[in-house]
Amino acid sequence: MRKARPFLKRSIITSSAIVLAAALVSVALTVTATPSQAATCNGYVALTFDDGPNSNTYTLLNTLKAAGARATLFNIGQNVKNNAALAKAEKDAGMWIGNHSWSHQHMTSMGAAQMSSDLSQTQQAIQQATGTAPTIFRPPYGETNGTLQQAASALGLRTVTWDVDSRDWAGASTAAIVQAASQLQAGQIILMHDQYQTTIQAIGQIVSGLSNRGLCPGMISKSTGRAVAPDAG
Ligand SMILES: [Zn+2]
Repeated sequence: MRKARPFLKRSIITSSAIVLAAALVSVALTVTATPSQAATCNGYVALTFDDGPNSNTYTLLNTLKAAGARATLFNIGQNVKNNAALAKAEKDAGMWIGNHSWSHQHMTSMGAAQMSSDLSQTQQAIQQATGTAPTIFRPPYGETNGTLQQAASALGLRTVTWDVDSRDWAGASTAAIVQAASQLQAGQIILMHDQYQTTIQAIGQIVSGLSNRGLCPGMISKSTGRAVAPDAG
């Protein structure tokens, strides 16, 4: 599958997305909910927003808060270094922060040492800004290989991609993004980005649509790579 995705609003980079590990999702998901959650949450999905932090991040955080939703934000290391207060605000707003590489390169063309350096530099920037180093890594463009997964593992990072692509990066409308989210099943992850107004405008409808189906926004488990209850550790 070939796709083009804008990056930092400046360029279109064509890339191939990895084949999603849909087969791995067949593992039955057991959701443990606290009594207060059990009434409404029959399962959890992960809302993810990539490529921040950037000038839209406060709007994103306010919109998520208004919707009562927590999300996973896959941050770019150099953006964190340049906007440390924004990364801290994400953490303080209850969001989970993942590693999305230092500068959004096509990492599968890097050597092992360069991969390690890129990921490690990003871990340090996020640790310095938020006090916590990520435990999950989303490779830019979803492109990974054995060497990259090993480099991530060595830093305690589980590689995570997505099940549903909102295609916000390809100019999807708010309605189309909401429609994409309506396909989410328990345990699954949706790819979005934090620099598009269309995406931010979709959040309220996404969360209410999930709620109507007994699904709640959750976190991504480091051990399974699936969406789980926020308190699942
Ligand atoms: Zn990205």
